[in-house]
Amino acid sequence: MTQSSVAPAAVPGKFVTFEGIDGAGKSTHVNAFVDTLRQGLASVGRTVVATREPGGTPLGEALRKLVLDEPMDIETEALLMFAGRREHLVKVIEPALARGDWVVSDRFTDATFAYQGGGRGLSLDKLTTLERWVQGTRQPDLTILFDLDPAIAAARLAGARTPDKFERESAAFFTRVREEYLRRAEASGGRFVVIDAAQSIEAIAGQLAGVFARLGLPGH
Ligand code: ADP
Repeated sequence: MTQSSVAPAAVPGKFVTFEGIDGAGKSTHVNAFVDTLRQGLASVGRTVVATREPGGTPLGEALRKLVLDEPMDIETEALLMFAGRREHLVKVIEPALARGDWVVSDRFTDATFAYQGGGRGLSLDKLTTLERWVQGTRQPDLTILFDLDPAIAAARLAGARTPDKFERESAAFFTRVREEYLRRAEASGGRFVVIDAAQSIEAIAGQLAGVFARLGLPGH
């Protein structure tokens, strides 16, 4: 990406994404994860941008409402996801990384492959074309995948919040989403950390603590 007007820092920041099916437990852990990163990075004068997809910019948040609430053609849905992503990359992610700050995003492109590709059956080739167009060679440095049986995730979500368009999907849909996530993790050449999200919240937090050393976080 070349749009950033920010002078690149000597040491670029890192880009970490949280992924998994709805109800797997991402939101439960992301804030504490970001807080620990912030504490570790304070000593080197860096900070952390916590963001999410769909969303992350005013336009992206407007698109989020549409894609999470409105029925639409599956290709329209994928195009809106990537349109929001382009805005997110240009306005938020790339400038932060160029400043040497870190970015933690609750979902990114792996979710589009998993949901629109695996779940909805949209051509993975088309998604790959859009991925290259929108993000060039940019990929997360690390992706933390919360892997969970869709039946357990559905039980956790029941009554926890009003389900959006995706959260109302069938168990079969989430099984396909999960399989595509796992296939991508397998093929990623080590970009993913796969967490068994059926564990207790405490056990998962303990496993996440091991990720900080792997990221080279000062003090870990
Ligand atoms: P996500 O962000 O992946 O959709 P959430 O973090 O919102 O999932 O978690 C969904 C629900 O499951 C919440 O009610 C949360 O309190 C609960 N939950 C999260 N992690 C666990 C866990 N390890 N064990 C049991 N319940 C959990």
